[in-house]
Amino acid sequence: MSKVNYTDEQLCATCQGACCKYYAGSALPSDFESISVTALTEKFASGEWAVDIWDGDPREGMSIFDEAYFIRPAHTNAIGKVFDFSTGGECVHLTQMGCRLTSEQRPAGCRLLKPGIDACIPLGATSQDAAVAWLPYTRDILEAAKRAEKMLREKNASLSVHDGG
Ligand code: SF4
Ligand code: SF4
Repeated sequence: MSKVNYTDEQLCATCQGACCKYYAGSALPSDFESISVTALTEKFASGEWAVDIWDGDPREGMSIFDEAYFIRPAHTNAIGKVFDFSTGGECVHLTQMGCRLTSEQRPAGCRLLKPGIDACIPLGATSQDAAVAWLPYTRDILEAAKRAEKMLREKNASLSVHDGG
């Protein structure tokens, strides 16, 4: 079954991805085939996905958690960082020809952003929605992020040895 997708190729091509240059769309657990620790570790270690934070409990009227985590594509200004809590950046999937992912492969936050001439409206999968949806996977996200950071550190160390650094 195809996923809901409001992308308007013509309008988005004219705009050249203003939203993608500002902040990558949030992913929901349903965007991933597998959300095991191993699968998430691979995604984070690829450098294409990052862990972002929601400050406070993302559930309306709840205050049990001080923070919650969600996953989104990495930003180009934070390449190599698994945790990226910065205030924004350009999505790694954006090219001069637009998003390199097919509409089916895009995170829900991208697919559910309804383009408009005057404004583009998020119709689901906001950062808060994503933080709520990922709550049951918090342990898996944190463990996978820890493993991916270790893998990236080892890779960088090995590259600097080969470079003679
Ligand atoms: S969704 Fe809106 S801001 Fe994003 S590329 Fe399309 S028209 Fe531009
Ligand atoms: S995944 Fe594609 S549509 Fe979504 S923010 Fe990145 S470049 Fe834009």
